[in-house]
Amino acid sequence: MMLIYNSQTHKKEEFIPAEKGRVRMYVCGPTVYDQIHIGNARTFLSFDTIRRYLQYKGFEVVFAQNLTDVDDKIINRANENGVEASEIARTYSRAFIEQMHRFNILDPDIRPRATQEIHAMQTMIQTLIANKCAYVADNGDVYFSVRSDASYGTVSGRNLDDLRAGERVEVNDAKRDPFDFALWKAAKPGEPAWDSPWGAGRPGWHTECCAMIHHYLDAPIDIHGGGQDLMFPHHENENAQSVCAWSQPLAHYWMHTGMLRVDGEKMSKSLGNFYTLKDVLDTYSADEVRLLMLQTHYRAPLDFSFERLKGAQGTLARIKSCVKNLRWAAEHDSEDAGVGVGVGADGDADAADAALEFDSAFGRTIDKAQIEFVQQMDDDFNAAGALAAIFNLVAAANKYLDAAGAHPSVALALRAADMLCELCGVLGIALTRPVQQDLPSELLDVARELAGYEGNDIDAAQEALLSARATARSNKDWARADAIRDKISALGLVVEDTAAGTRIKRKE
Ligand code: AMP
Ligand code: ZN
Repeated sequence: MMLIYNSQTHKKEEFIPAEKGRVRMYVCGPTVYDQIHIGNARTFLSFDTIRRYLQYKGFEVVFAQNLTDVDDKIINRANENGVEASEIARTYSRAFIEQMHRFNILDPDIRPRATQEIHAMQTMIQTLIANKCAYVADNGDVYFSVRSDASYGTVSGRNLDDLRAGERVEVNDAKRDPFDFALWKAAKPGEPAWDSPWGAGRPGWHTECCAMIHHYLDAPIDIHGGGQDLMFPHHENENAQSVCAWSQPLAHYWMHTGMLRVDGEKMSKSLGNFYTLKDVLDTYSADEVRLLMLQTHYRAPLDFSFERLKGAQGTLARIKSCVKNLRWAAEHDSEDAGVGVGVGADGDADAADAALEFDSAFGRTIDKAQIEFVQQMDDDFNAAGALAAIFNLVAAANKYLDAAGAHPSVALALRAADMLCELCGVLGIALTRPVQQDLPSELLDVARELAGYEGNDIDAAQEALLSARATARSNKDWARADAIRDKISALGLVVEDTAAGTRIKRKE
């Protein structure tokens, strides 16, 4: 059974999609006026992980995310830069998609842009006016009347009258009620505008997602998501439109991510306390940033710091090194036995039994890691708990390799490596690079210089160097053996002699 915390009911609920085996989900996308920051990225990453996990569980997932490509922020930025709003939107739509790819976020199945959906929005607004839930103001704006929706406030758990007493709201003469919001904004000179039954204008921000969801997915959808700051008024307003236009709530499960913070404060453009995703990914890998973010539950606030990011870097290196060691041990097992912990290799029956038991215990540990991973993710996508299951498997695998010495079970070593890759892969963390790929290409030059190697293959270069070093040692040519080791060391690498053989690897 899968549980999802529904922000609307404040409870974990069993997840049952409306259509068996198929999940329709929508996550509000960015307003494209600048590079996104890592707070935004945290929200998109959370839903990417949720989507990947639903797929892992066998659901077909239809995932939609909009681009808000017409908005005050875009118009202001265009005016500052002396360019057209459409140019700003184009530049930052591209930049957003590019950074999402770098961050290993899957493309949505449907990516509607506000400027391409004007017709669907206008049709919805007409329905709302016809249903007496919206009105045209004298200035040509069209407002949604929040009082016309008896259920207004149920998404975010607010009551209009409490809000009125407790919160300051901007009063605008054109509105009948301060909480009414613009569905359509009359054009001001120089702004992007489209013709409409109410005069030239553009859609309000809250209008697009609701119209797009109806158009592409049909409401109520299964999951609607965004950051916690979107719960009110954005999601409340989206839901109100759906209720009033089609007598349907917008979604069954409302999911909201916690805010990424710096020094206890929400990261935001307006506070100036932000790092762009682009800048962070210029220095850290997507896997490192993902690992850091996933170590905090998606609903909890995430306190970002570069110290923590460096910590995640170390953790990822340990997982990768474990996978590498497992594969390497499997590839270099001299006896290639299905079962083969070193203690059983001498033919002693008791020792062989102990070896068998040792192997089957490790086999059970691998299975258990997957079971725990699934249990944690089934419990409202607890990626932090799922990572703990991965770390446990890493610790167990390291112990296994130590104890197994030269004769680990090839099958088990490979199964553990595959399991680590599979589970990390569900979290969008890619460990599947081939074993040697992270040896630097300079190793080829060293092999050419010291081992007479002529090719371009990094694995073969490694073998040539190791064999040159072994020859030098057996000839007691210590100067040459040392020279090989020193050149390798100068590249940040070490020659490691293990029970299963010798190899070159990065210094840890
Ligand atoms: P915006 O372009 O401002 O609509 O933001 C895009 C997404 O990022 C929305 O889902 C926001 O809720 C989310 N978001 C904004 N700031 C943060 C933050 N500091 N931490 C997590 N998510 C955020
Ligand atoms: Zn939205």
